[in-house]
Amino acid sequence: MVALGAVIATLLGFALFYGLKGKKKSIDSSMKSSENRICKSDSGKSTDIIIVGAGVAGSALAYTLGKDGRRVHVIERDLRQPDRIVGELLQPGGYLKLVELGLEGKLYCVSDIDAQNVYGYALYKDGKSTKLSYPLGSFNSNVAGRSFHHGRFVQRMREKAASLPNVRMEQGTVTSLLERNGTIKGVEYKTKTGEKHTAYAPLTVVCDGCCSNLRRNLCNPKVEIPSCFVGLALENCIIPHELQTAFISATEKGNMRTMPNRNMPAAPYPTPGALLMGDAFNMRHPLTGGGMTVALSDVILLRDLLRPLHSLDNAYSLCKYFESFYTLRKPVASTINTLAGALYKVFSASSDPAREEIRQACFDYLRLGGVFSSGPISILSGLNPRPLGLVLHFFTVAVYGVGRLLIPFPSPKRLWIGARLISDASGIIFPIIKAEGITQMFFPVAVPAYYRAPPVKGIQIALAPPILYEDLTAFIEKLVSLTDLIGCKSEDHELNTNIASPLSPSLELKNEANDSPAPPRFPPKSNLEVASDFGHEDNLTVAEAYRCRFIKETCE
Ligand SMILES: Cc1cc2nc3c(=O)[nH]c(=O)nc-3n(C[C@H](O)[C@H](O)[C@H](O)COP(=O)(O)OP(=O)(O)OC[C@H]3O[C@@H](n4cnc5c(N)ncnc54)[C@H](O)[C@@H]3O)c2cc1C
Repeated sequence: MVALGAVIATLLGFALFYGLKGKKKSIDSSMKSSENRICKSDSGKSTDIIIVGAGVAGSALAYTLGKDGRRVHVIERDLRQPDRIVGELLQPGGYLKLVELGLEGKLYCVSDIDAQNVYGYALYKDGKSTKLSYPLGSFNSNVAGRSFHHGRFVQRMREKAASLPNVRMEQGTVTSLLERNGTIKGVEYKTKTGEKHTAYAPLTVVCDGCCSNLRRNLCNPKVEIPSCFVGLALENCIIPHELQTAFISATEKGNMRTMPNRNMPAAPYPTPGALLMGDAFNMRHPLTGGGMTVALSDVILLRDLLRPLHSLDNAYSLCKYFESFYTLRKPVASTINTLAGALYKVFSASSDPAREEIRQACFDYLRLGGVFSSGPISILSGLNPRPLGLVLHFFTVAVYGVGRLLIPFPSPKRLWIGARLISDASGIIFPIIKAEGITQMFFPVAVPAYYRAPPVKGIQIALAPPILYEDLTAFIEKLVSLTDLIGCKSEDHELNTNIASPLSPSLELKNEANDSPAPPRFPPKSNLEVASDFGHEDNLTVAEAYRCRFIKETCE
């Protein structure tokens, strides 16, 4: 068996993870008090959404839904700073999601936690090395990967979520989902002191991570554990030349930790009243560090799907609507999942000469530079996770490997290995793609669920005060696309006052610069008034009314 270490392309961030001890101390002490800052309660109010688990997915979701005006109740098993050897590299694609969620700026989640900017990877194999830079040329100079202590990062996100008045963060362990007539109504949980409580909400989002106990009710519980990560804190080492000495000394200290790597396919049992997110829903091999990017990208998607809905009460129609979530997330999630699964298989220990040829071809292909390195790295970084790009590069590597074998003198043995190489490459990638779902991954537009419109009956637009000007354009774009969707199906729906309500004076626009509320842009008008403004004597459809108001009022 060829040792994994002998062949693996050692992926290293350009920057090292940890700073000076003194700096660490001050970070840790500032973090210590954060448990108290996070834990707060306003138990008198009813809840729109329960979130189980405040890890990466749960905290980000709580923050963004809270910002959208939802009343969120987060129940987290342990509000102390997590201490696990996971999630220490956020890819640039994930960083962009953090910015989109408003969780990153001058001061937010990766500031003051000793995070290091990461600009690419260094690969080492058999004494050769190469550097692969993230293709960041077209982005703002802040955009890069970030490496950090996972627990500090999560704690920052928790603090950010808990700072919103409508987000209630509580320490407790959820023991079961409460179900009535096939609909999840809430959760049962135990507090720190062992007291049992129940909490109810129209929607429960389960983000309880890779060891989820609750997921078996909501998805195919299949879990595969192909390997473990072993973690050591290396001190005072210059990577990679002195890696060996530092590595040996760290192993002698015996300060080793392990973390099982899991594959958990996204195979939901759509259940009214509940939704799975984050690792609990879908997990891939962590080799490429894509988990947090997928989780944050899913959070944004869910936020956007929920934005047009004021009420979440109709669990059945909501459940149907969420089918679009499963489809819309596929191209990004499946590409990151497939790359992780395929690279893990390529670089796993194997004495098969064809497999060694793929590994060597992979390394040499990336060393070619230009599009041969920027293409794969832009997929890996989450900056451009396109499924077709992935398949294209994967097979180009295989063909390149065959070319290397056959030039200049193809022998029958080399021909045979070349044929095995192509067959191996296909045997690696096609089963992964098949498991992800070919149509959903490559042709999501051919899946009917792609077009699910928000439940129409009683639809309202929920606007969280305050709406910042920068959000308005995106909001209007979403609204127009929403009206387009509804327009296909809503011919029978007459306007009602519910629908008009969001355009009432409660819509408060704030100017970020001076923070003073601007006068309401949309004066309240009855729907028939809008209709007559546009020369309609009859009721308008939902879509027509929205379109009319927005065309007229934004133009004015
Ligand atoms: C070894 C390893 C290395 C990784 N490295 C990277 C990397 O470099 N980059 C990257 O992007 N991703 C990486 N990942 C993946 C990344 O860690 C996850 O994708 C990410 O943490 C998922 O976030 P989550 O919120 O779904 O789960 P978690 O972060 O695990 O959060 C789940 C939360 O739920 C809480 N909880 C659990 N059960 C209950 C309950 N019953 N009641 C209440 N609360 C509960 C937990 O306490 C926890 O806070 C790695 C994963 C592994 C295994």
